[in-house]
Amino acid sequence: MDISVVIPLYNEEESLPELYSWIERVMKANNYSFEVIFVNDGSTDDSWEVIEQLKATSGETVKGIKFRRNYGKSPALYCGFKEAQGEVVITMDADLQDSPDEIPELYRMITEEGYDLVSGWKQKRYDPLSKTLPTKLFNATARKVSGIKNLHDFNCGLKAYRKKVVKNIEVYGEMHRYIPYLAKNAGFKKIGERIVQHQARKYGTTKFGLNRFVNGYLDLISLWFLSRFGIKPMHFFGLLGSLMFLLGFISVIAVGVSKLYNMYNGMPYRLVTESPYFYLSLTAMIIGTQLFLAGFLGELISRNAPERNNYQIEEIV
Ligand code: UDP
Ligand code: MG
Repeated sequence: MDISVVIPLYNEEESLPELYSWIERVMKANNYSFEVIFVNDGSTDDSWEVIEQLKATSGETVKGIKFRRNYGKSPALYCGFKEAQGEVVITMDADLQDSPDEIPELYRMITEEGYDLVSGWKQKRYDPLSKTLPTKLFNATARKVSGIKNLHDFNCGLKAYRKKVVKNIEVYGEMHRYIPYLAKNAGFKKIGERIVQHQARKYGTTKFGLNRFVNGYLDLISLWFLSRFGIKPMHFFGLLGSLMFLLGFISVIAVGVSKLYNMYNGMPYRLVTESPYFYLSLTAMIIGTQLFLAGFLGELISRNAPERNNYQIEEIV
């Protein structure tokens, strides 16, 4: 199979028939063997019924996957990646903002120019300023952090991949914004960009707001930490905690011993707990324990990050 088109969607019932017939037209005109994988990310409208209908009329070329609830765009893409059979995998938003007419050129760049990943660049974007402005900031950060200097639009939903790439990355949390970075970390080097057409949203409304934007930034930071230092930062906290604990422990003993020594030598007898040093030592022990636990937790969380991907499939057609 030449191409798998993976489409994550959440409440996009109006766009789907138009989108599918447009894709089908492009595929047939170019003689590609293809499949379109719709991943229904817990839609509450009739998107699933529309997909079932498309399946009934188009058969083999349509695959529909229904999540039990809304898990997010990243798990939806990841699920589509696992299902995809085409040599080239193309992702596209369901809202008709990305144009299927770009498919042949993206396909050519992968198969003939040897790109592992080609990302669309919505140079002329039809979205409100409240959206395009934070995106500019976001892309500058992503470029800097990932070291992929030639990309302008990390988050563009329209991208093409060599099959090997999508089978070797895990997209979780809000990581769909950084797939080129994930691909780079997995060892894929030839990452390119192509200016693509962009339309204003025709039906429905955007699903992304400030909340997910902030969440996305936090994911970028954790991804950067992990790929740059591995779990070393967590080890550092663990080590710092252990050291402080040890120091506290030693000084508790030291204070105790010196008190006993004073007693034995007939110097003024005072309770160990009356000494400020005792409290300092105790505090150090407590802080040490806390830092140690923070390090331990960080380690657990970072190692289990892909757990954020454990979506559940309710039905496949
Ligand atoms: N989407 C999804 N799950 C979600 C949110 C969005 O599958 O939880 C899909 C959505 O249906 C669309 C794509 O992700 O196909 C991009 O979303 P949207 O168009 O809302 O983002 P924008 O273009 O405004 O950045
Ligand atoms: Mg959109």
